[in-house]
This record gives sequence, structure tokens and C-alpha cells, in this order.
Amino acid sequence: MRHVIALDVGGTGMKAALVGADGALLYEARRATGRERGPDAIVETILDFAADLRAHGIAHFGESAVAAGVAVPGIVDAERGMALYAANLGWRDVPLRDLLGARLGGVPVALGHDVRTGGLAEGRIGAGKGSDRFFFVPLGTGIAGAIGIDGAIEAGAHGYAGEIGHVVVRPDGPVCGCGQTGCMEALASAAAVTRAWAAASGDPEADAADCAKAVASGDPRAAAVWADAVDALAAGLVTALTLLDPRRLIIGGGLAEAGETLFTPLRAAVEERVTFQKLPEIVPAALGDTAGCLGAGLLAWDLLSTEVSA
Ligand SMILES: [Zn+2]
Repeated sequence: MRHVIALDVGGTGMKAALVGADGALLYEARRATGRERGPDAIVETILDFAADLRAHGIAHFGESAVAAGVAVPGIVDAERGMALYAANLGWRDVPLRDLLGARLGGVPVALGHDVRTGGLAEGRIGAGKGSDRFFFVPLGTGIAGAIGIDGAIEAGAHGYAGEIGHVVVRPDGPVCGCGQTGCMEALASAAAVTRAWAAASGDPEADAADCAKAVASGDPRAAAVWADAVDALAAGLVTALTLLDPRRLIIGGGLAEAGETLFTPLRAAVEERVTFQKLPEIVPAALGDTAGCLGAGLLAWDLLSTEVSA
């Protein structure tokens, strides 16, 4: 059966799948990146994983994968197939596309940015389905965004488009990992809520999910932490919708798992802030942590369709 390899490389783990032409997940696997062994070892782990997936396809589906798609964190030059920079993997200028192509018998390989690749999947087969203009924002350890326009994701001139997490929402706020102060990411990411709730609750083990539960059960300290994060989030999102005028705003990542504990106050806070802007639908992401992997599969199939038409 004709299929492609889809691979989503995260900071600590990788998710992979063999994906059929109709988008069916034929096989799924996970593996650790082996980050502790250094940047070169991570690349070797990825190449070995891809080779094993190719072998699995031959053994179980009677043929080898016809293409591969890979989503990676950091800064990606999709055109040249280079992972330019990834702080959490220690990468600089890794020619991942060529390395994978060589390892996979010369099949075409597409490389994409993790959040934009996840956004591609949400747009085509997830919460953005049927929406010509959407903005996908996963709230995880960090916050990034994917700008969806007519079935494609806008990467920007240098591969930095959509970095909504680094919009400053409180100039006197906490220092962000990027060096700026008061970024939305430093106030409203799952990691930021975890920090704030651990401090407020006095429990160093408490995280954002615990905070959401405490909010739902009526804890006023949790409600204060939550309201602060929602306020920062709404401020950043209103900046985004002022610039992009999306039809749908798709919120994903760990924090969105709080469901209506997040969405009800968030919709109200956004609505309160807009003046002339049109309100987009604000909806939860549909694909969870498989979005990157599904998107990588779409990238691979897209590559084949452009090659045929070229
Ligand atoms: Zn920042």
C-alpha cells in the first residue's frame, strides 16, 4: 500500500507514523530523542528511526514509503530543508532533508516547523477545517502560532511568522526566554501558569493542570492566577486578530485541555477588548499532540502532488 513517513521531533520525544494516501494512520510509533547524548546523536536517532519506519513499511505494507515529512522545533528553512536553530536540541544548521533523503533511498523529504506543521493539520483535517483564514495558537511550554491562509501556512520571509508568544503584553512583566520582558509567553504559557500556581499554592509540584482543577473547584487563589494568565492571553490574541483578521482562532496545547475553564473566560476577555475588530470563533484544537505528526504526513503527500504537477 502506498504510504509516506511522518515524523514529529519534539524536545524529548519523537512521534512517527506511516500515513496512507487518504490520511489513514497505518502505523504509529514513539521514540526518545536521546537529547542527553548531544545534537549529533539526536540526528542519528532520527535517521535510525526513519530507516526503521521504512523497513516496517516494506515488511507490513509491501513497499517502502514514497516520501517523508518531518516537523522540527526552532527555526526552519523549509526551502533548503535545513533545521537552522533549535535551542532544545542544540542544533545549528542541520541539513536534515538531505540526510533523511539519503537514508531513505532517495525519496523526497519535506521539512517543516513544528507549530506551523501542526497548524497545517488543524487547518485541513482538524478544528480549522472549512475555514479559509485561521490562527492556530498552542499554549504549551512556550507559545507560538500558525497563520493559516487558504489551506497553506504563512512562514514569513525568514521563517519567523506567527511568533505571537513574543508579543509584549505587559512591558513591566517578567523576563522571557527571548530576552524581552513581559512577553505573552512569560505570562500565559502552560509553563508560566505552572510557575505562578506553584508559587501561589505553595506546592512546588503543582502545575497548570492542577491550577485549572482548582479554578473549577472554586479556589480563589487559583482563580486569581488563572485570571491573570487569561488577561495576558487575551491581550496578545487581540493584537493577533487586529493584524490578521482570522475567521477562526484555534487554541491548543496543554493549557487548552482545561476546556471551558479556559475558553469561557477567554472568549469574554477577548470580546471585552475588541473595539472595531470582528470577533473570530474561538475554538479548541481538535488533533491534540498528534497534530505535528499528521501535518508532517500532509507535507509529504503535498510534496508528491507538486512533483507530479511540476
Ligand atoms: Zn519573549
